[in-house]
Amino acid sequence: MMIRELRETVCRLHAELVRYGLVAWTAGNVSGRVPGEDLFVIKPSGVSYDDLTPESIVVCDLDGVVVEGTLSPSSDTAAHAYVYRYMPEVNGVVHTHSTYASAWAARGEAIPCVLTAMADEFGGEIPVGPFALIGGDDIGKGVVETLSGHRSPAVLMRNHGVFTVGDSPTSAVKAAVMCEDVARTVHVARQLGDPLPIAPEDIDRLHHRYQHVYGQRSHL
Ligand SMILES: [Zn+2]
Repeated sequence: MMIRELRETVCRLHAELVRYGLVAWTAGNVSGRVPGEDLFVIKPSGVSYDDLTPESIVVCDLDGVVVEGTLSPSSDTAAHAYVYRYMPEVNGVVHTHSTYASAWAARGEAIPCVLTAMADEFGGEIPVGPFALIGGDDIGKGVVETLSGHRSPAVLMRNHGVFTVGDSPTSAVKAAVMCEDVARTVHVARQLGDPLPIAPEDIDRLHHRYQHVYGQRSHL
């Protein structure tokens, strides 16, 4: 039952990648950890977003081995699995090649924290992770090592694209949307001059308020 609901959620969230213009063709994926199990669900490889169904979402163990599903999992499965193995607080992972964020990744340049929205969501700059080839643990290792020293839920993997994490698949998708949004704005700001930095103590204040005070309080 829990896996079925998670498959539905992760299937639906892929449509958000399309809606926010974060993906071309099939190059982007969302996964979600199955609560209380050493399992996660992820997009099948090479399937068009329009053709995704909850049943097509693949269930894998934390080594990336398929335990349920008829399709092959995303080619990024090893990276997602590595993140779930080494970041127990993470319940959702997203990967995209969204244009502006990947342009920063192509230059190997962190996005500086020059917008209050960045302080809110990322708590500082969006860092750059190492260059890593797909296939083994290198991408996952680069994501975990880079994010471990940062408040940012997003990392720009050099010459590649974006990985984001969250306490749910939805929050990881939100981080991917916000990452692309600020990547674009800071890029535009750069065209006309040098964006002004925000003082570290103000970044701290903004981040704390957004993480703890902003929005609707849940009393459930
Ligand atoms: Zn990729």
